[in-house]
Amino acid sequence: MQRYDVVISGAGLAGCSAALSLARQGLRVALLDKACFPREKICGDGVTAASTELLEEMGVLEMLRQRPGSLTEFRGATFVSPGGTVVQGRILRNGHLSGSSYVIPRMVLDDSLVSRVKEHSSITFLDKTTVTGLVMDGDRARGVATSAGEFCGRIIIAADGAYSPIAKQLDLWNRDKSQQGFAMRAWFSGVEGLGDSIELCYDKAMLPGYGWIFPAGEQRANVGVFLLPRFTDQRTLKRLFERFVGEHHYAVGRLKNAVMEPGTLKSWPLPFGSFAGKRGRSNVLLAGDAGSFIDPITGEGIYYALKTGRYAAEAVAHALERNDESAALTRYEQLWRGEFSTRVYVPGYAFQHFMNNEWFVETFMRYTARKQHRADLLADVVVHNRKRRDLFKLLNPFY
Ligand SMILES: Cc1cc2nc3c(=O)[nH]c(=O)nc-3n(C[C@H](O)[C@H](O)[C@H](O)COP(=O)(O)OP(=O)(O)OC[C@H]3O[C@@H](n4cnc5c(N)ncnc54)[C@H](O)[C@@H]3O)c2cc1C
Repeated sequence: MQRYDVVISGAGLAGCSAALSLARQGLRVALLDKACFPREKICGDGVTAASTELLEEMGVLEMLRQRPGSLTEFRGATFVSPGGTVVQGRILRNGHLSGSSYVIPRMVLDDSLVSRVKEHSSITFLDKTTVTGLVMDGDRARGVATSAGEFCGRIIIAADGAYSPIAKQLDLWNRDKSQQGFAMRAWFSGVEGLGDSIELCYDKAMLPGYGWIFPAGEQRANVGVFLLPRFTDQRTLKRLFERFVGEHHYAVGRLKNAVMEPGTLKSWPLPFGSFAGKRGRSNVLLAGDAGSFIDPITGEGIYYALKTGRYAAEAVAHALERNDESAALTRYEQLWRGEFSTRVYVPGYAFQHFMNNEWFVETFMRYTARKQHRADLLADVVVHNRKRRDLFKLLNPFY
């Protein structure tokens, strides 16, 4: 049996972010992952300015800059309405953030985070180690059971993704079907005419979701569909993906000479954030997708995973300083709710509701396309350069 201050299940974005923060505070951490790194993660790979700021602080962006071809910067976002209106927003960086936005293949991004983790002697990193569940001592967790034996920690962070075995064991899986999205993506090569914008295409068959084409350099693109709960069975998902790449007026033009790379068409759930339910119990905290934090309007989860990993670490340090492990959850709840509840989830679900209506989407896009500053605002909100609630300015006819 091995003892640590903190045991983290899952070395994805949330797990690595938490481990790096904890190590900076001098705590002993075990970081365990079932995969063998470098590993793939099904994702659109769109990394917003808010996320790159966090990656910069962790020293990961610097590492990525040294790996040729790993960063494809995008400077704009193109939105296409079901009826064909095209809104071309520029990312102006005139908001509160200075970071750039990139498409970064997750194989490379997550591997760079893991490389950073390995530099810290206070982190024991073990891949190919599957966590099977918590080992309980009364109503608190003593540690986790794994394929490599038991790991004990004063506090446990579950950062093991959308199918977190720990969230399931604690009955903290978000079972509200209306808060569970799904996405399917594939890599395409030979994509012509890609610029420096990410492209989001709305189609009446998948509203309020969308299809995306994200440029990843060398005529390659990450292409996928992001869908809400009513489409989440596999057959419907595949049908809508095929409809997007084969019939959507904009996507067809972009992909006409492109080839889907074999074996890359895959899907995975997106647990949306919500206000209900605590993200942990006793001395166990849930971070990233394990705790359901994804933005319900864009499907962005990278920022929320990195940030909740950091919040979890902050809460743990606060609790261990006071020698009161139960204080971690209270602090964690304050931190994430303070930033996300009313600023992200309230406007997110409200906008999701509006975007469910084809007439609204069409009118909204036409109105936004008419003035460049409106298009820029939309692009800036999507990459976190502007506050989410600024979207409501676009409902004001005088803006
Ligand atoms: C198709 C798709 C497209 C997306 N596109 C975007 C996008 O463009 N931009 C964006 O911001 N977000 C996007 N997201 C969301 C984003 O991918 C997730 O929110 C993000 O990866 C969450 O990070 P995480 O660290 O919480 O979990 P993960 O990245 O899933 O990491 C979890 C880790 O836990 C490990 N693990 C799982 N079970 C166990 C176990 N039993 N024992 C040990 N280890 C375990 C896994 O191996 C993995 O390494 C997309 C999601 C999907 C599905």
